[in-house]
Amino acid sequence: MLDIQKIRADFPILSQKVNGKPLVYFDNGATSQKPQVVIDADAKYYQEINANIHRGVHTLSQLATDAYEISRGKVQEHINAKFAHEVLFTSGTTHGINLVTNGFASILKPGDEVIVSSLEHHSNIVPWQMLCEKTGATLKVIPMNEEGELIMEAYDALLSEKTKVVTVNHISNALGIINPIKYMIDKAHAVGAAVLIDGAQAVPHLKPDVQALDCDFYAFSGHKMCGPTGTGILYGKEEWLNKLPPYQGGGEMIKEVTFEKTTYADLPHKFEAGTPNIAGGIVLGTAIDYLNEIGFDNIQKQEEELLAHATKRLLEIEGLKIYGTGKNKASVVSFNIDGIHPYDIGSIIDKLGIAVRTGHHCAQPIMNFFCIPGTIRASFSFYNTKEEINLMVEAVKTAKTMLS
Ligand code: PMP
Repeated sequence: MLDIQKIRADFPILSQKVNGKPLVYFDNGATSQKPQVVIDADAKYYQEINANIHRGVHTLSQLATDAYEISRGKVQEHINAKFAHEVLFTSGTTHGINLVTNGFASILKPGDEVIVSSLEHHSNIVPWQMLCEKTGATLKVIPMNEEGELIMEAYDALLSEKTKVVTVNHISNALGIINPIKYMIDKAHAVGAAVLIDGAQAVPHLKPDVQALDCDFYAFSGHKMCGPTGTGILYGKEEWLNKLPPYQGGGEMIKEVTFEKTTYADLPHKFEAGTPNIAGGIVLGTAIDYLNEIGFDNIQKQEEELLAHATKRLLEIEGLKIYGTGKNKASVVSFNIDGIHPYDIGSIIDKLGIAVRTGHHCAQPIMNFFCIPGTIRASFSFYNTKEEINLMVEAVKTAKTMLS
């Protein structure tokens, strides 16, 4: 059993008052809060070892380089990548996806097909659209059902020898639905397609095993898993990362430069041009250590309880509808109240100290599917409590009364 009060004490922001009320932070899907060890690790880097990496012979540069590479190793172990050089530091999921789509621009041909799902965040739609525009490839979309689940029969029917890439999120940010990615990866591989998994919403809740999944790419952001903003990881299988051209040119990504020809550095440096977010990369390792100390089994148990409690309590409110009612769900509840705009509810409950997300959650096609402008999304973390959910339910009831 987790001692939630002890865990909450690790997060200084959680004891704050907002609008004169104790903060109830349910916008974890947008970004998670940071524990003191993460905040301290950031300061410690700048206080003690700040220097540029991979270049200096001097001691600080060596210390910073070692810390950065140790962090890469932590990520490798965390996601069970075969090699550390398959782990690329990025600025976030968006950066990782664009790195891959940029690479595929030199691989795809007119007539090739890219399959995305109807549950994607815009950052896993738009880069693929841009890629298709550039290459003449065609974008195909896996449909969803009323429960917010992808329709696997339709996915199977879309796959063919024309399919070159399949991309899908592990967990939907707007609905919390967990997608059957292992099945989807195996099916895509059977037709010779590469698979990118957008793991942005999965990594706060689970430990992905990229070798067991056998995905070709797995992208995620550090800031959603207790790490700093502007950090992220793109895992890529060695053979794919060797095949793809570099994303950006610059320092650090070269072997040799002349005006006639430049040769590129080995992995992972080929994809890490310029001075990276050194502190961020190191501190992401601290965040991963912190999560592993709490333990993902414990995290999941706590979050399952929160999801069940929130679902039950919210459904007591007349006229409230939850979107994403599929069986396999992470701790996210997306809902609306009949005849009331989600933004109005969100604004009123903010005044009562409750932070939720309202709007389309960068997933407009999902909102279009349900014919709604947006939803109110409460996304829970292991540091949230049932008491906080009760406060949200009361606040939503108050808002409903005011707006009806
Ligand atoms: N994909 C999903 C499923 C997300 O939830 C998000 C963040 N909301 C992203 C991609 C983009 O992540 P970032 O903004 O950190 O690049």
